[in-house]
Amino acid sequence: MPVFEAEGRSPALWSTHTVVNQVPEWANDDLWDADVALREAVEQAGAHWAAERLQTYARQVGSPAARADAVAANVHGPQHRPYDARGHRLDAVDFHPAWHHLLGLLRQGGWVTLPWRDDRPGRWTAWAAGFYLHGQIEQGTLCPATMTQAAVPLLRREPALWAQVGDPLLSDAYDPRDIPLQAKASIWVGMGMTEKQGGSDVRANTTTAWPLDGGGRGGVYRVRGHKWFYSAPSSDAHLVSARIGPDGPMGCFWVPRWWGAQRNAVRIQRLKDKLGNRSNASGEVEFEDALGILIGEEGRGIATLVEMASYTRINCVLGSAAIVRAALVQALHSARHRQAFGRALAQQPAMRGVLLDLALESEAALQLGLRLAQACEDAAPLDQAWRRIVTPAAKFWVCKRAIAATAEAMEVLGGNGYVEEGTLARLLREAPVNSIWEGSGNVMCLDVLRAVQRQPQAAHALLNDWRQALHGDAAALGALRTLAAAWQTQTDGAALEHQARWIAQTLALLAQAVLLRTRAPAAVADAFIATRLGEAAVGQTLGVIDARSWATDAILARALPEA
Ligand SMILES: Cc1cc2nc3c(=O)[nH]c(=O)nc-3n(C[C@H](O)[C@H](O)[C@H](O)COP(=O)(O)OP(=O)(O)OC[C@H]3O[C@@H](n4cnc5c(N)ncnc54)[C@H](O)[C@@H]3O)c2cc1C
Repeated sequence: MPVFEAEGRSPALWSTHTVVNQVPEWANDDLWDADVALREAVEQAGAHWAAERLQTYARQVGSPAARADAVAANVHGPQHRPYDARGHRLDAVDFHPAWHHLLGLLRQGGWVTLPWRDDRPGRWTAWAAGFYLHGQIEQGTLCPATMTQAAVPLLRREPALWAQVGDPLLSDAYDPRDIPLQAKASIWVGMGMTEKQGGSDVRANTTTAWPLDGGGRGGVYRVRGHKWFYSAPSSDAHLVSARIGPDGPMGCFWVPRWWGAQRNAVRIQRLKDKLGNRSNASGEVEFEDALGILIGEEGRGIATLVEMASYTRINCVLGSAAIVRAALVQALHSARHRQAFGRALAQQPAMRGVLLDLALESEAALQLGLRLAQACEDAAPLDQAWRRIVTPAAKFWVCKRAIAATAEAMEVLGGNGYVEEGTLARLLREAPVNSIWEGSGNVMCLDVLRAVQRQPQAAHALLNDWRQALHGDAAALGALRTLAAAWQTQTDGAALEHQARWIAQTLALLAQAVLLRTRAPAAVADAFIATRLGEAAVGQTLGVIDARSWATDAILARALPEA
């Protein structure tokens, strides 16, 4: 006889406990409606025409189905299939259907190449907003989208090639087929620079290209060598750096996956087993005399790929801003509903400081990403200064802060934040990659120095403009003066390198201060400036803020309106 019957208990009552005080994840599909700062920014940039489209996209990508796809695409990552069943070389990568759903959504939504074929004011902000919404749900798919988008301006300057690839490159159709390029409705383009012996130091590249018919811009070359990181390896083509001859100048080559009806000799050796970004494939490849076309002039290879990186780095900022936003909403939602020590966590004084800091960090990251995107739209000198000087600083600072902010948001959920059934674990695994690829932290800081040294007048004009915007903010003006003095007094580049991280950090914080002061409510700007640049800037750790000093309720309500 079962024990419970012997004890006179009913089987229906056989349960150990009732589950209470557990907060389901924030899984709403109103990513757009819930994001006041994003909606305001889109309006301010003149992209109101995109609002409805963004709202529709938010509902698609925020839907339960898309959220489930994001989980599945990362749990069931890409699989390398080097050969077919009969031993023919394929160099294929197989993806879970969830990956295709998400990448298809991104492409069909227009969030890959919209700003290159739309001339309405606000097009870059509209695109950035769509990219940011998508990045809150799934990050791996942003990689092929980013590289494809950034390849457009380079390829546009090559008339013969553009005539073949322009339409499928700009198309919003989603065509994942591994077939010759000529038959495709749309194509993806990757980027291959990093080699084993040197990634940041691109001059260390040993991959070599040999001209077939005299060579020169638009000429065909045989490319031999390897790439140690080659993301989205099944893309229809990559832009690849290689030396022209063993000791020759560096060139940039269009290396397609198919050459006419034949597979090109780009051999995927294996896929990387990565901490995060698991839905996306990153390969190691060998070029066995693969065929490629020279893009741009001989010797301009690095400059060409650096131009591409000037766009991809903005996407790293936006992708990191999306991670911070996704982490913030989970933290805020959980803290509002989880009770501890007699009240909601969001009401506990120490927790209010943490939530406030996360909310400030999130809006500042968003504003900076959107401003850099907006700068792509305008050739005005100030916009060019934002692009050239502020982008590397923002890439350094926002991508690093995203790691800290995501970890802090995870802790707001306590142990639940750490388990794989929630989104925080995936977000935290994802966060560091934006800081590493497209130029790691130190390299970005050195790039800020290079930009300032090459364009001192642009740097001067930028700080002048900021001085006016921050005229009432003594703390920010003090930081601005110290930064300007460091630039002016230390003309020796090597000496300045010791301060590279401080300079990039200060520049990024000032940029965020300016943007919040001119674009966000005063409550947000006041709290941000004082806690980042003023006397209240005490914490190396997020959350070292006295929430009583600021309009915390208003700032948190703005970050995520209570349902
Ligand atoms: C998931 C993933 C996908 C990737 N996909 C691609 C891809 O598709 N295409 C591609 O080309 N690359 C890709 N990369 C490579 C990436 O861009 C490089 O890893 C990155 O640029 C750093 O190069 P490295 O790994 O050779 O490190 P290194 O260049 O050896 O740098 C190591 C560290 O030293 C620092 N450092 C370098 N120089 C200096 C200096 N002068 N002073 C102070 N510090 C310095 C760097 O900041 C870094 O922290 C990918 C990387 C990852 C992780």
